[in-house]
Amino acid sequence: MSAKKRKLGLTGKILIAMVTGFLFGYLLREIAPDSQFVKDYISDGVLHVVGTIFVNCLKMLVVPLVFVSLVCGTCSLSDPSKLGKLGGKTLAFYLFTTAIALAFAISAAVIFQPGAGGQLTANLSYDAKEAPGLADVLISMVPTNPIKAMTDGNMLQIIIFAVIFGFAVSHVGDKGRRVAALFEDLNEVIMKVVTLVMSLAPYGVFALIAKLSLTLGVDKLKDVFMYFVLVLAVLMFHGMVVYPVLLKFFSGLNPLMFVRKMRDVQLFAFSTASSNATLPVTMETAEHRMGVNNRVASFTLPLGATINMDGTAIMQGVATVFIAQVYNVHLGFGDYVSVVITATLASIGTAGVPGVGLIMLAMVLKQVGLPVEGIAMIIGVDRLLDMVRTAVNVTGDMVATVIVGKSEKDFNEDVYNDSEAGKTKG
Ligand code: ASP
Repeated sequence: MSAKKRKLGLTGKILIAMVTGFLFGYLLREIAPDSQFVKDYISDGVLHVVGTIFVNCLKMLVVPLVFVSLVCGTCSLSDPSKLGKLGGKTLAFYLFTTAIALAFAISAAVIFQPGAGGQLTANLSYDAKEAPGLADVLISMVPTNPIKAMTDGNMLQIIIFAVIFGFAVSHVGDKGRRVAALFEDLNEVIMKVVTLVMSLAPYGVFALIAKLSLTLGVDKLKDVFMYFVLVLAVLMFHGMVVYPVLLKFFSGLNPLMFVRKMRDVQLFAFSTASSNATLPVTMETAEHRMGVNNRVASFTLPLGATINMDGTAIMQGVATVFIAQVYNVHLGFGDYVSVVITATLASIGTAGVPGVGLIMLAMVLKQVGLPVEGIAMIIGVDRLLDMVRTAVNVTGDMVATVIVGKSEKDFNEDVYNDSEAGKTKG
């Protein structure tokens, strides 16, 4: 009995919460399809309150965790040039995996032609937002007010400030050592809060999934079924085949262990559809379950949650080709190259929150001269795809973190190979 109980850890509980949440929402919709009571008191009432509180609990940890953890990471770097090397490797890997993701996405869309037929163009409208230019992106990386950066949750600005601050801490002798010790202690405390919030996940996930299944219309699915299936297939392929192969190739580590230890992170990402909200869980898992040193994980993961979005790039690649096919626009080789470049930039510019990938798709469409109204076709099925692509996004961040951690020798292989290491009991 006790062995059975132990087996049902956090992952098991979250999975049960997902299934029961889905069934609960589905049955309620079948029993009382148009009930105002269900809408007011259950969907927009209890489920909304519990689900939002859970996501807020995760989000409330992101800024303090990233700042404190990155200050600890930077001040423990004995050689500051290591940060440059670490940053270079991480960025190169992030760009490399996004390019692979796009190559598969575009090839699949060209081969399977999800938009062939072209009869979906009537009466569509979509309000595209302007994407910021490169110069603005660069300038806005440096905060004029770090406190504002924190209240806005501007991850790149927080990263820049934390790295400079941590660097200074490590260069002021005894005083710096005292500050560093304080940050180490704070880090422990915040990590403890992360595990506490994680143990609330089954309730939060139940509420999120039940609300989703109560309100999600699947009637939109039939019009864009091929698109939906294709995005899903490429996402699965990237998450389950490409990443494990890359992990094995670049680090020699056992990919099955990685897949196993990623489950909780992926379930959190799937339920919240936000890489940012999942960040506390991703960081906890990297350090305590995967064995990556804080020096690496505290830098690569917040950066990844902000700029590395392979799942989003996959959606954008397939969507662009799909929309071109629906509107009967021929794309040449040059257009595809341009899609790869802009979709990489668009996924970098996508914030790790629900639905932003679709907004950034406008930038890619404009680049190749496609009508942004095409987005209106796929908006109805985007929430489900967003959940899956967010799980892929966080997996990509973790693969890079493990590979870079191992290559920088900031990695404990014994922890990685111990299936019980750092396991959060539900
Ligand atoms: N929801 C995604 C994430 O947080 C971003 C997106 O594709 O919309 O990673």
